[in-house]
Amino acid sequence: MKSDEFIVGVDVGGTKILSVVVNNEFEIVSRCRKKTKGWVKDTNPENKIIQTIEESVEQAGNPKIVGIGIGAPGPVDPKNGIVINTPNLGWENFPIADILSKHFAVPVVLDNDVNLGTYAEWLLGKNKEAKHVVGVFPGTGIGGGLIVNRKIVHGASGGAGEVGHITLQIDGPLCGCGKRGCLEALASRIAITREIAALILRGESTYLTDKVGTDVSKIRSSVIADAIDHGEKKVEDIVRKAAYLTGVAIANLINIMSPELVILGGGLIEALGKIYQEEIQRAVKEHAMPFLRKKVSIEIGKLGDDAVALGAALLCAKKNDKL
Ligand SMILES: [Zn+2]
Repeated sequence: MKSDEFIVGVDVGGTKILSVVVNNEFEIVSRCRKKTKGWVKDTNPENKIIQTIEESVEQAGNPKIVGIGIGAPGPVDPKNGIVINTPNLGWENFPIADILSKHFAVPVVLDNDVNLGTYAEWLLGKNKEAKHVVGVFPGTGIGGGLIVNRKIVHGASGGAGEVGHITLQIDGPLCGCGKRGCLEALASRIAITREIAALILRGESTYLTDKVGTDVSKIRSSVIADAIDHGEKKVEDIVRKAAYLTGVAIANLINIMSPELVILGGGLIEALGKIYQEEIQRAVKEHAMPFLRKKVSIEIGKLGDDAVALGAALLCAKKNDKL
């Protein structure tokens, strides 16, 4: 990329759209974020995305934009720029890249949001020489991204990398996907919250009873971290178990893919990174084959909420030979 060329990266999520403008060093020069409550019911859902992009470009002083990258949840068809199915947003076969490319008259690339988060943490992190990378993002759900030979893996369906739906307990608790015993059903923030709510109801967590009462929606990752800092041992045990199970899934992936780098991100990692690192390292030691695990570095991502939008901008630059 030349110094007067800029790229827009967009993260389209269930609750917000984030649009960033980056320079040729992939530094963010402007950022626009909009809440998306109710917007999916609009007849033209792209309008809100267009508006967010335009505001971010305006804030950057209307520089020359040479491309746009978009990250969206759910499986995508990256070749044709189509979001295949995103129940959260109500989109089915939505040709978002084509619509935006026509509107802004620049190339537009699309990929799954977790793939792009993994992509950015890898290429903007200290292990960018790695060729094989696994990204695991535990939060409300548990997302995954796979990179093999420096390329994002989509598989035959477009939806490869569903780390959260690795089965860890046959006949285990019901998952949002309809199966039982998925990692996500056992170790996502929703699963952790369910167990902590039971602790509160049994009167076994004084700190959380005072803090959240019976309103389980207040059990955010940061509140869980606070409870542990206040010595709530049973809360810590619940988190350690979830982190360990996440580590077992990662160990399975190490055995299959033999990556050099595993990147951890998402809300639970941001709030409880130390516990997650410890338990994941323990699980990998116990469940990954020694020959394969020796080569792996397990790192916590540094980009936070910007990861997906930055990954979208990076992928756009790469596909248009600007990287
Ligand atoms: Zn599942």
